[in-house]
Amino acid sequence: MNTGKYSSESPLAQRLARIRRRIGEALHAAGRQDDVTLVAVGKTWPAGALLEAWRLGIRHFGENYLQEALAKQQALGHCDITWHFIGPIQSNKTRAIATHFHWVHTVDRLKIARRLSQQRPEWLAPLNVCIQVNVSGEASKAGVAPEAAAELAAAIRELPNLRLRGLMTIPAPAADFDAQRRPFRQLRQLRDALGLEDLSMGMSADLEAAVQEGATLVRIGSALFGPRQPRRG
Ligand SMILES: *Cc1c(COP(=O)(O)O)cnc(C)c1O
Repeated sequence: MNTGKYSSESPLAQRLARIRRRIGEALHAAGRQDDVTLVAVGKTWPAGALLEAWRLGIRHFGENYLQEALAKQQALGHCDITWHFIGPIQSNKTRAIATHFHWVHTVDRLKIARRLSQQRPEWLAPLNVCIQVNVSGEASKAGVAPEAAAELAAAIRELPNLRLRGLMTIPAPAADFDAQRRPFRQLRQLRDALGLEDLSMGMSADLEAAVQEGATLVRIGSALFGPRQPRRG
């Protein structure tokens, strides 16, 4: 594709085209026939930026901070959007998360899963959840250890208002492509062992590695919206 030809497009449109190309090339390199869901991560970006992305065809949005997300959901109430919660979950936020999101990627404790199930409004479809796994064991304290994932998955499967979809991880930054792929491969093997469908993995810096290892959802922020804005409040 000749990007010069598209210079009249907005910067966001150009960045989106570039991300789609990166995903397409990684799918091709992996010999994959299926597709990847692009989840646009809007943290720190205003509703107007999300609206522009929506007009360009993005339908999945990920948010890390509840209050910020609720304000944007209100502003974008007229848009058909699938909302993904991808931030750390405090117990006192589960009711709002269970009410206002379609997916939660960051479940790593049974207590939180139970609350999400109990608090999911009965008029809504079951909440889609991914278990966050700390595969490489260093990126952050969030995520269940790989050895504990099977037990958590079995318990979540018993919860009536959750639908366990897959696994999610945020690995530590890695120096090269092979090192990037390693934790994603571990997550895929664990997903296969648990008989699950989805893999939420890959961000702006490592989406090719994630797609090559089988990501079904990639979570892209800065490569789409530009460098992060300072957070207010
Ligand atoms: C911020 C964030 C992303 C997106 O990160 P980028 O590097 O900006 O693409 C993805 N997942 C989670 C959990 C995040 O917090």
